[in-house]
Amino acid sequence: MRMPFVAGNWKMNTTVTEGEQLVLEMIVKLDRIEGVEKVLCPPFVSLIAINMMLQGSSIKLGAQNMYFETAGAYTGEISPLMLRELCEFVILGHSERRGYFGETDEIVNKKVKAALANNLKPILCVGERLEENEAGKTEEVVNRQVMAALNGIEPVVLSRSSERSEETAKNLVIAYEPVWAIGTGKAASGKQVAATIQFIRDVVAKIWNKSIGQDLRILYGGSVTSANIVEFISQPEVDGALVGGASLKAEEFVSIVKQTAEIKGRKK
Ligand code: PEP
Repeated sequence: MRMPFVAGNWKMNTTVTEGEQLVLEMIVKLDRIEGVEKVLCPPFVSLIAINMMLQGSSIKLGAQNMYFETAGAYTGEISPLMLRELCEFVILGHSERRGYFGETDEIVNKKVKAALANNLKPILCVGERLEENEAGKTEEVVNRQVMAALNGIEPVVLSRSSERSEETAKNLVIAYEPVWAIGTGKAASGKQVAATIQFIRDVVAKIWNKSIGQDLRILYGGSVTSANIVEFISQPEVDGALVGGASLKAEEFVSIVKQTAEIKGRKK
């Protein structure tokens, strides 16, 4: 059974004070929702404050990026060692990092390796651009990105304590985020998302094995709101959502998580 998963990517929004306020507005309602892993990914500067606020709750914390070295002369960067004291997850390979900051598949691969080696759980983002989608290259792009990001990673390296595939799959989450759907209000269709996520499971099965491909949690991201979340999570292939803009509104985010719990709970 794959535990449903919803993460909020706040991107470069909220000051520390605003972030604390946002958490205050949702913490009680979010905490009460069972059967979904709930993760907030605020900006780096808010991690300490929000980490303290979330102590004792069922809500987990993630960062939005990190560098692949653990320490050294890398002015302005944040290392996995720094993050792992504060959070459990880290978003890697987001299309805004790839597009605005020149992150290549090779860099994403180094980051995924560094996160796993330092007990951080990557939320690995993949997805095609509009022109690639229109040219029918979605599978080609996603295949390349997943193969490259997981290159040289042994399935057992993903596991801290055992070689069971459930353990392996637990430490990695993939988010399928078509670039043309991010922040545009133009979400993909549930059917297209389900087909691409099944394709990603097949790619993972080829890299590692069928059981990991089946056990791994794979999310959809791209203009998810409380009004359209059902279209995605009612697809059995889709385990949840990576939510950008809508995660900045407490009511919206709580509603997305609640609907995920209801729909996925019903399917058990
Ligand atoms: C994201 O930032 O990962 C994202 C999916 O953004 P939005 O929900 O705003 O499209």
